[in-house]
Amino acid sequence: MSRSAHPAGPRHADVLPEGHWTAPATDLNALDEKVWSRTVTRDADGAVSVGGIEVARLAEEFGTPAYILDESDFRARCRAWAEAFGADADVFYAGKAFLSRAVVRWLKEEGLNLDVCSGGELATALDAGMPAERIAFHGNNKTIAEIERAVTAGVGRIVLDSFQEIVRVAHVAQGLGTRQRVQIRVTVGVEAHTHEFIATAHEDQKFGIALADGQAAEAVRRALTLDGLELVGIHSHIGSQIFDMAGFEVSARRVVGLLAEIRDEHGVELPEIDLGGGLGIAYTSEDDPREPHEIAKALGDIVTRECESAGLATPRISVEPGRAIVGPTAFTLYEVGTIKPLEGLRTYVSVDGGMSDNIRTALYDAEYSVSLVSRSSDAGPMLVRVVGKHCESGDIVVKDAFLPSDLAPGDLIAVPATGAYCRSMASNYNHALRPPVVAVRDGRARVIVRRETEEDLLRLDVG
Ligand SMILES: *Cc1c(COP(=O)(O)O)cnc(C)c1O
Repeated sequence: MSRSAHPAGPRHADVLPEGHWTAPATDLNALDEKVWSRTVTRDADGAVSVGGIEVARLAEEFGTPAYILDESDFRARCRAWAEAFGADADVFYAGKAFLSRAVVRWLKEEGLNLDVCSGGELATALDAGMPAERIAFHGNNKTIAEIERAVTAGVGRIVLDSFQEIVRVAHVAQGLGTRQRVQIRVTVGVEAHTHEFIATAHEDQKFGIALADGQAAEAVRRALTLDGLELVGIHSHIGSQIFDMAGFEVSARRVVGLLAEIRDEHGVELPEIDLGGGLGIAYTSEDDPREPHEIAKALGDIVTRECESAGLATPRISVEPGRAIVGPTAFTLYEVGTIKPLEGLRTYVSVDGGMSDNIRTALYDAEYSVSLVSRSSDAGPMLVRVVGKHCESGDIVVKDAFLPSDLAPGDLIAVPATGAYCRSMASNYNHALRPPVVAVRDGRARVIVRRETEEDLLRLDVG
């Protein structure tokens, strides 16, 4: 079982001239624990196992492509977040990263709350028994039907995203004879992605109500006058795949500034602030994400400090990690199909899935790594691009990586860190059948979302 450093991938290929990409110095058989889920090991015979089960057995039983989700890792990450934030804060898992009934049950058992942002996600959460008061409902264009369903179910909070929605939710709640707990989502003028953040001029987007020009203060004014609403806090979500805490710092400072303004104007101290999600994970060995306890400490310190200087009691903090919980817990298992060496360029390795099961590379130019998992190999490295089977030249799963040069059709390869925004964004492009999600734990594997069938496809096509 070797779990040492993963080869340094040719991540900077874009800035290096063609032909100057250096082969990795380290062992291609090594599995970097930063990008693989916790129970992944390479066994003495060279094959990779997860949750005590060899990947070849998983492929045989469930087919490929398949998302293999490490349940004990998922649960451990939930616990780490819940413990890091403690009893005075709330962790909401962002369901859009990946949601299924099994996931809802795990969240419930591990003490997490749940963010949903559509009627479908709400239905899944309620069906699997998540208590409504532990659900927060998001979205910039919730329908009246969705609002009615959320209010009727008694969700713990609805995050208001526009002036129209303030009125809509108030109206629905009043009509149902209740008062809905709400937060107002503000845009604080910070946009953060990965290592960078920009602290001005990012109000130009569809989410939230801008803080800068007094719009947010006006939204608060309106919400406070409506009988159907109980305004409990302010919400801010600044981006995704963030490593740098500086953006959160600016966001927290601005949100606390609004709380102070609200106190001054209305004499009310809102009891909650939500700083959103967006915490980054390692997709390749070059990413260095923060641990939940570091994040909790950084956010707690910022909010406490800002509240002290504004003379406010520290509000209850909540956060909404999606990717940071589920992302690292799954990998996509593919079977290698055709292999096409392009002289002087690279070798194209085609797999039996592609952009239909992982759109992130095409959509965001995302980085991934890949390893041969059905066996080990002593062959030298070859520069590969892992591509899918779709009729689209942008159908790329892994842009640049090294795999052993003896790779052959029928080998199994796996792309780690695909737990977030892969199955949830999967499509039926080319009438592909969306892969199953197989949960493994302690030597047991079970399907939690089954593979689509041609029958499923044809059932929707009513002629
Ligand atoms: C998408 C989203 C999240 C989760 O983002 P991650 O990058 O998966 O952590 C949290 N909160 C809101 C409001 C979101 O839109």
